[in-house]
This record gives sequence, structure tokens and C-alpha cells, in this order.
Amino acid sequence: MTLDPVAALQDALRAPTVNDGSGSEAPAFEQLHAALREHFPLLHASLELTAVGGHGLLFRWPGASAEKPVVLMAHQDVVPIAGEWTHDPFGGEIVDGVIHGRGTLDDKGQLVAICAAVEGLIADGFEPAYDVWLSFGSDEETTGAAARAAVEELRTRGVEPWFVLDEGGAVAFDAFPGVAAPIGVVGVAEKGTTDVRLRVTGDGGHSSTPRQNGPTARLARAITRLDRMSMPVQLPAPTVEMFEQIAPYAAKPLRPVLANAGRLAPALARLLPRLGPEPAALVRTTVAITTLEGSPAANVIASAASAGVNLRIMVGETVAEVIERLRAAIGDRQVEIEVVRGGEPSPVSPRDEAFAKITESIAEVFPEAVPAPYTVMAATDSRFFYEISDRVYRFAPFRMTAAQRGSIHAADENLRVDDFLDGIRFYRRLVEGL
Ligand SMILES: [Zn+2]
Repeated sequence: MTLDPVAALQDALRAPTVNDGSGSEAPAFEQLHAALREHFPLLHASLELTAVGGHGLLFRWPGASAEKPVVLMAHQDVVPIAGEWTHDPFGGEIVDGVIHGRGTLDDKGQLVAICAAVEGLIADGFEPAYDVWLSFGSDEETTGAAARAAVEELRTRGVEPWFVLDEGGAVAFDAFPGVAAPIGVVGVAEKGTTDVRLRVTGDGGHSSTPRQNGPTARLARAITRLDRMSMPVQLPAPTVEMFEQIAPYAAKPLRPVLANAGRLAPALARLLPRLGPEPAALVRTTVAITTLEGSPAANVIASAASAGVNLRIMVGETVAEVIERLRAAIGDRQVEIEVVRGGEPSPVSPRDEAFAKITESIAEVFPEAVPAPYTVMAATDSRFFYEISDRVYRFAPFRMTAAQRGSIHAADENLRVDDFLDGIRFYRRLVEGL
């Protein structure tokens, strides 16, 4: 069968790989693996496959040298359907040159683009300069266990990747106010994702005889204090570099400010939070109150009340430090703070030769884009790879409008066919240029 990457992506989208870890997801992953085998026979014949952690796939493509191995990553699982969709989220429909479906951007577009690039290169008789590993996790949206298993497998084999490339960045349009050119943002670090629970206990009872300052009122006070607290601000090095890179493309009044971001870093760090929630998230740890629980009945006073808080921790800070800040802001010893899931921010990957390989491929395939480093706000599977590599980067080689970025984890996720094909070209260039 001749290579048809678009049909391969359509078939991949039709496998509803929502992974809740219950076991009921297995047939969907089998369907996806069968589609990959059908569309990429040369890849499956030439590469060595190891199954890791649940439904994870780890392929090794032997290169001329095993010296500087490279890992290309993507994940197979998708988040559940949310909102009202115009097209079947698992239909793989193409309408007016646009592929619709859950996972087109996050992250099956990337998964299939990697496979298509490898399949095409093998068909051309190409041998990579170094070993290329493909690591496709199966539970990125939940636990990341498959990615951790892949890291263990590589560690056992003594593989120390030269660099790792996962999802995270994009060729982003309208990413920064006043900058008309798309920015090819490559994530060089990611914030830490941590969940904590605030809990207050006390006397419950009948709602006809309430007391003041019960668990719900104390919890509410704690929440409003967190909502008003100010976290320290800083402009990290990758963000300074991003501003300097995009400065020449910015609106005139903004140009000198961005070009001197290094010198103006303290002033910019104070200014950005005033420009909206997105700029604010660039410079400080964010605190979001997400879940609330109190009494189960209208006439029952809660004897315990709790709130879930999702933290995105700035690179350079630690979970313990941030928890201490929350404790100080709340100022009430009766409010317990429990860390449900602690995720530290990642180290910062260097901007050296490996980073340049990625930005050179961006410049070739997306000449209209300005390549720039940045810090990813969300967590990706790639964070586990810092255990075996210093150079972990995050870039999905697709053009994404603000609306498309907003559709990730929401409704009407889609990818233009032409943009998907350019993504394949990016991986080809990257592997050819190793
Ligand atoms: Zn993803």
C-alpha cells in the first residue's frame, strides 16, 4: 500500500483512545495500533518495537551511529469529548481541507506525522546518522505511566538521549499582542503542575441553629485570601530570549521594550500581570480554586468543607516553597493544606546545537515564523525524560491559530490538511539534518 498520511491520521482519529485506566480503553488502543501497522508497514518492518507501560510504544530506528540518540515523542491518548461539536469527534472527517476530530492537535497529528516522516524516509532508503527512538505514551492526559516506563526502558539499555522532542510548542498565530508574525515557540521548560486540597473540619449539625465561623465560612475566607494573594514575579531567561527574538516583528512602540527585555526584566515582570491572565501566567506561579465540597444537603451544616486548588509552579520555585506561601496567605491554622499530587517545575533545557537543529528545521519549513524559546504552562510526558537527558524540547510542527489552540481539550479540535503535511516535512528535515 502506498503511503497516505492523511488517511492514516483519519484512521487514527477514529480510534477513541480516551484512557481512564479502567481497562475498557484496550480495544481503542488495539484499533489505533492496527491502523498504524496498516499504514506504516516499512516502519514496523524496520524498527524494533518494545511495548511499555499499558499501551505505550517505544520504537528504535537504528542509525549509522548509536552515539547521539534522539527521541521523538507524541501521545496516543486523548481527552474525553467536551462541548458541542460541529463534526463527529471520532469520525476523522475532512471538510474544506480541514481534518476534524479529537486529537488532531493533541496529539495524534504529531504521532502520525512522525510515523509518516519515518515511513517516507525508509522508503527512500535513508539511514539516520544516529539512532532515532519513537516514544508514544498512552496515558499522557492522566498519569504519564507509559512515558515513565519508556524512560526506565531507555535507562536500562544505557540510552542517554542527545535530545528529546515532544508536544508543547507550535507555529502559533496571534500568540503575543502587537506581533503579527507567527512565532515558532519551542518549549525549553515547563511549569510544575501541583494539586492541593484545603480542608476545614468542625461542628456540623442542624441548619436551624447555625454557629458563626463554621467550616464553610473559614474555607471561604481562605479561598478569598488565596484569590487576592500576590505571588512573586520574575521574568525567566527563556522568556527574555523569546521577547528579544520577537522584538523585530513587534509593533513599533513595543519594539525597544522587547529588544531590551533583559535589562527591563524586573519592570516587565511587574507590568505583565496587568495585561491579562495569559501574560500574568508567564511571570508567576498561578493559583486556581477548582473544586468545592461542603454539606450534601440543604438543611445540614457541613462538618467538613474542602476545596481543590490547582497550582502551576514557576520554573526556579519548588512545591514546598509555594505551599509555605499559601499557608502564610491563608493565615489560619485550622485550614489543612494537603498536597494531593506534587509536580515540580522542570529544569531549563539549553539553547545549544540540539536546539538549533530544531529551530533550523522550523526556519526551513515555516519561513514565515520566528523561532523562539518559551516555557510551557501545561505538563507534558517529556518532563520524565530529564532523568536521562539534559535537552528536552517541546514543539508540535503545526500552524495553530488562537481558536485552534483554544480547541485543545475543548470542542471542534481541527487541523488543516496542508498544515499536517508541513508537519511531516518538518520531521523529515529534522531527521535528515541530524
Ligand atoms: Zn497532549
